[in-house]
Amino acid sequence: MSSVAIIGGGVSGLAVAAAIEIDAAAAGVGLRTVVIEKDKRLGGKLHSIAEEGYLCEWGPNGFLDSKPWTLELCRQVGIEACLLRSNDHARRRFIWSGGELHQLPEGALSFFGSRLISWPGKLRLAVELLIPSRKDGQDETLADFARRRLGKEALAKLIGPMVSGVFAGDPETMSLQSSFPRIHQLEQDYGGLIRALFLLQKKRRAERKAGQDVAGPSGPGGKLTSFAEGVETMIPAVASYLKGEIRQGSSVVAVRKQSDGFIVEMEDGAVIEAEAVISACPAYAASALTAPLDRDLSRLLSEISYSPLWVICFGYERGKVPGDLNGFGFLAARGERRSILGTLWDSSIFPHRAPEGHVLLRSM
Ligand SMILES: Cc1cc2nc3c(=O)[nH]c(=O)nc-3n(C[C@H](O)[C@H](O)[C@H](O)COP(=O)(O)OP(=O)(O)OC[C@H]3O[C@@H](n4cnc5c(N)ncnc54)[C@H](O)[C@@H]3O)c2cc1C
Repeated sequence: MSSVAIIGGGVSGLAVAAAIEIDAAAAGVGLRTVVIEKDKRLGGKLHSIAEEGYLCEWGPNGFLDSKPWTLELCRQVGIEACLLRSNDHARRRFIWSGGELHQLPEGALSFFGSRLISWPGKLRLAVELLIPSRKDGQDETLADFARRRLGKEALAKLIGPMVSGVFAGDPETMSLQSSFPRIHQLEQDYGGLIRALFLLQKKRRAERKAGQDVAGPSGPGGKLTSFAEGVETMIPAVASYLKGEIRQGSSVVAVRKQSDGFIVEMEDGAVIEAEAVISACPAYAASALTAPLDRDLSRLLSEISYSPLWVICFGYERGKVPGDLNGFGFLAARGERRSILGTLWDSSIFPHRAPEGHVLLRSM
């Protein structure tokens, strides 16, 4: 029987354990999996906290249903019927700039009507059509790419907020090709982003006509999906589906190579022998564990930076919050001197997130 140790009991570790158990069973191969989680609680960043009628997500508030693997996992572990799709108006996304909220334009007409970008900024954006695509294959930072193709204002008001929304990261230091390979590919395939936008919009219209669910260009494709009791619902469901063992409350402190596999040493003194080890813990933790095995790999892992982030949930009576809150929430433009990246209007995105007559806002 083969054996695999998986380090990390977040959604990645549990999902990979389920995936290899399913594949092994289909191939008729005997497999023993052990998931090792340092905390007493499984789930890692997925943590849904129910308090005083509110449902606060400590990490992600959902996943996109355009990625078939997550839905497939939900089906496999028997929670498909509990899936909860986000409300339709959650497609509307906003940017906080110049002291007001601007809805992110979804098409060319609404873009020219929007006051988010000034007229000189819009003209600079239009020049993008004339800028040749980069052909030297060299990587660049996302900020350099945005300045080269779209101009400084678009970097501050469109690209900067998008980066903080996805990675909470700094576009001045993030690699375009590693962080946003799709944007790099659009430039390569279509010669520019505006050209790509027009052609893809045409395609989207055709898909909508064919009854497929696609988001507007301001949001990612697919629909944000969760569960009535929060995204953490997946964790106990996947954990109880697994046939293998789960060890919680003790971290892996070392991984040593032996002739026919690995020895995994745990903080509590336990030792696990496995033919293969899968790392599903953060890169900095994997860097420490791989240092004695492969110094180059360990160094590369140590170079992956993580942004510290606080998540704060605010519950209010509905009447005390101005505006219609019809949308996903807002991200702050760069240079707005705000101490938050943005605020998600969680009770507008999903039902069951706040008591009747109240709203739940989540700032990061
Ligand atoms: C505020 C916030 C919002 C987000 N929003 C979204 C979103 O809307 N959509 C989306 O798709 N993603 C979102 N993400 C990202 C998403 O949460 C993560 O990509 C995902 O949860 C990572 O899962 P993981 O299992 O890889 O890592 P983690 O959840 O970090 O799990 C890793 C686990 O490894 C354990 N571990 C670490 N070291 C050791 C060790 N030595 N031994 C044993 N165990 C160890 C940790 O305790 C942890 O439980 C968001 C993240 C945050 C923080």
